[in-house]
Amino acid sequence: MSTFLHCCESLKLACDDPDSPVTFKPKFREYGIKVLDGGTSSIAISFCPWSGHKLPESLRDEWFSRLQAQGFNPGVDLVPLEFQDERWYTK
Ligand SMILES: [Zn+2]
Repeated sequence: MSTFLHCCESLKLACDDPDSPVTFKPKFREYGIKVLDGGTSSIAISFCPWSGHKLPESLRDEWFSRLQAQGFNPGVDLVPLEFQDERWYTK
C-alpha cells in the first residue's frame, strides 16, 4: 500500500485493491489500467476514472535520470530504498 495521496477515495481504494484493473506504481507516480493478457503490463492513464481529475505526470523518465546520475544502472543494480517507492519525490 502506498502513502501517496490520490485525488479521491474511489481511486485510492482501486489502487490498493489487487483485484482492481487500476494500477498505481508509486516509484514512478504512474497510474494505469491493466492489460488483460496474463502479463504485468498496463496502459498509462492521465485522468481519474471516477472524479475526472487530471492525474500527476509520470515520473518514470525522471526516476531513470536521477538513478543514472547517481551511477546506478536500474536494470542491473539494486536501487536505493527511497527509489523503490514514492519516497524519492515526496520527501
Ligand atoms: Zn479521483
